[in-house]
Amino acid sequence: MKIWRTLHDPQLEREVTAFVDERVIPVAGEIDAQDVYPVEIIEAAAAAGYNTLTLPTQYGGGGRSNQDALLVMEAIAYGSAAVAISMITIYQSQTIIERYGEPSLKERFLPQYAGGLRAAYALTEAAHGSDIRSLDTKALRTDTGWVIRGEKAFITSGSAAQLFVVLAETEIGVSAFAVPFDTPGVSTYVGPNATTFGLRNGPHVNLVLDDVEVPADHLIGEEGKGMRQAVITLAHSRTLAAGISLGIGRAAVDASLAFAGSRKAFDQTVLEFQGIQWYFADIVTALDAARLLTYQAARDLDAGHEIARYTSEAKLMASEVATRAASTAVSVCGARGTMESAPFGRFLRDAKAYEIAGGSTEVLKNTIAKSLLKAVSG
Ligand SMILES: Cc1cc2nc3c(=O)[nH]c(=O)nc-3n(C[C@H](O)[C@H](O)[C@H](O)COP(=O)(O)OP(=O)(O)OC[C@H]3O[C@@H](n4cnc5c(N)ncnc54)[C@H](O)[C@@H]3O)c2cc1C
Repeated sequence: MKIWRTLHDPQLEREVTAFVDERVIPVAGEIDAQDVYPVEIIEAAAAAGYNTLTLPTQYGGGGRSNQDALLVMEAIAYGSAAVAISMITIYQSQTIIERYGEPSLKERFLPQYAGGLRAAYALTEAAHGSDIRSLDTKALRTDTGWVIRGEKAFITSGSAAQLFVVLAETEIGVSAFAVPFDTPGVSTYVGPNATTFGLRNGPHVNLVLDDVEVPADHLIGEEGKGMRQAVITLAHSRTLAAGISLGIGRAAVDASLAFAGSRKAFDQTVLEFQGIQWYFADIVTALDAARLLTYQAARDLDAGHEIARYTSEAKLMASEVATRAASTAVSVCGARGTMESAPFGRFLRDAKAYEIAGGSTEVLKNTIAKSLLKAVSG
């Protein structure tokens, strides 16, 4: 059954779909139930080049487009959103280093990604979520580098990350740092708020930085510009985030459509009821529109256009449509939709959680509105 248009490279779509069928789908339920980081799959994805598609070839990356990365992320999330978010933190961390890092920092870390380096993106703190203009984690300049002290919270992929991109406040503002996990003073723990109901790729750990010393070139980009750099990086990764929601939404539609096509009630399949068909017509229309918007946003990104508005629109729409798709799937499948042995609860939990992670719905609307206000004020 193929009901979705191929919107980009059919060959890449075939390859990644085969990978997902073989490696991801069979273990997706278990990853969610056990709440574990999928180390082996991430290593296999790295070996296939999926963790470094947009990284320049000089660092061992694929040097490919954001559309390629979007396609891969959508396909992986179709199998497991937990695997896909394990990959998006890898993309976020390599993107900020590649865009802003010193040449020596890039040489040190970027080539490691093709070998399967696992990384996390640590902005949030217990007291700072959407608002990261000031932070409780502090970094002090020393003669040889920086000393960082503080605690980050809610860090996706943190249970298995070997490298953390950390936001900390310096004398002149929020700054970004590369912090390897094996640096003395770095530790993680599973706090009371680490376990989420969705996007379960291992607990979203707290990262403790206890007077952690890093060399001078581990400051990423300009001191005091860390928040701006981190937000631009997030804007870049938003087409991938939208792709994750699209993958979840498509998986929910496909699984519920297959169920409705075989389940009998009142001497016909459930899918033969017009009321059920209209559910599908509505949600497939919404998903098709969200896919077109997202692939266009990735094309804009590849063309180097202003991206904050369109990538925000893509994530906003895709995440809300995915939640609707998952919720509709539960309705269509009746009791089967609610069972723990069925994937629909996972789809619904993952989709809803992704309305918040990586830029909440409300904050995305602010970004979109800001570009409208700018246009109005000239
Ligand atoms: C599954 C999951 C994974 C995550 N992974 C990571 C990670 O890897 N790294 C990381 O750093 N963080 C991570 N986070 C944290 C995430 O970035 C924050 O949850 C997010 O920024 C929102 O912050 P908050 O939860 O503190 O909400 P708050 O900032 O407290 O906001 C509460 C509510 O108010 C709304 N709100 C806030 N400001 C505004 C505003 N200006 N206008 C309108 N509404 C507003 C929010 O949208 C939300 O609805 C993750 C979160 C989740 C759920």
